[in-house]
Amino acid sequence: MKTFELPPLPYALNALEPFISEKTLSFHYGKHHKAYVDNLNKLKEGTEFEDASLEVIMLNAGGGLFNNAAQVWNHTFYWNCMKPAAEVNNEPATELLEAIVKKWGSFEKFKEAFSVAAAGNFGSGWTWLVTNEKDELEIVSTSNADNPLRNDKEPLLVIDVWEHAYYLDRQNARPNYIADFWNIVDWEAVSARY
Ligand code: MN
Repeated sequence: MKTFELPPLPYALNALEPFISEKTLSFHYGKHHKAYVDNLNKLKEGTEFEDASLEVIMLNAGGGLFNNAAQVWNHTFYWNCMKPAAEVNNEPATELLEAIVKKWGSFEKFKEAFSVAAAGNFGSGWTWLVTNEKDELEIVSTSNADNPLRNDKEPLLVIDVWEHAYYLDRQNARPNYIADFWNIVDWEAVSARY
């Protein structure tokens, strides 16, 4: 049987400070993300998905198997949307930037719209920048483990708005966590997906 491993974090646990603390990352990556990987391995045992890829499970399974597979995928993607603040470009590459400006009027207005969506994503979930079926940019909020790939939308950027992503650093102040997030978005990686 295939066994999934926790993918390595693309930077050190303290690399996103002061915006995301080492304490948050050590729990979020080392406990939450790891638990999803462990649960996924347990739950797929003896099912038709025993030897399936993560994407196949995420796109086709239901219930706990879907939840854990999608959370593994979502967290790995989220880590790869961020980078230490000293290393990031402050804006997307030309092609993506032009598409953002066309859709929202300016990069600042896009960030505002995304922040409003993320702050208003009720309960636990994820807020995404995606390209939709028509290849247009769209901001999408999903609940719990859900992922836009299930609706034929291609993720470019995501923020985790589950409380475990920010509660140790920001307690109930999700908007502050979202404001911090803009300092560590890896626009080079996001632009490469477009
Ligand atoms: Mn999370």
